[in-house]
Amino acid sequence: MEGGMISVDRWARGSQAYFLTHLHSDHTRGLSSTWSHGPLFCSRTTAKLFPLKFPDFNFALLRVVEIGSWHHLSLSSPSSGSPAPIQFMPIDAFHCPVKF
Ligand SMILES: [Zn+2]
Repeated sequence: MEGGMISVDRWARGSQAYFLTHLHSDHTRGLSSTWSHGPLFCSRTTAKLFPLKFPDFNFALLRVVEIGSWHHLSLSSPSSGSPAPIQFMPIDAFHCPVKF
């Protein structure tokens, strides 16, 4: 995939969509309550826990995605600007034991 489109557990500016796999601290380095580089996609469980770690975050940036469902995003090519639709399906890695 072309650079500048998505970031997974990376929080530097310059992507169109950001994915947070889970809230363990080795995956949130660079993320903060004032971070606002783009929409942040995460599971419902992560979204519920998110305010405990980042209480002043702009929660309008959060996009909850369902585990095991296909999701569609309309991104654009950073080089040409042409549409670059992507599809993704979050999969439970059974790495986080707590369910809500
Ligand atoms: Zn972890």
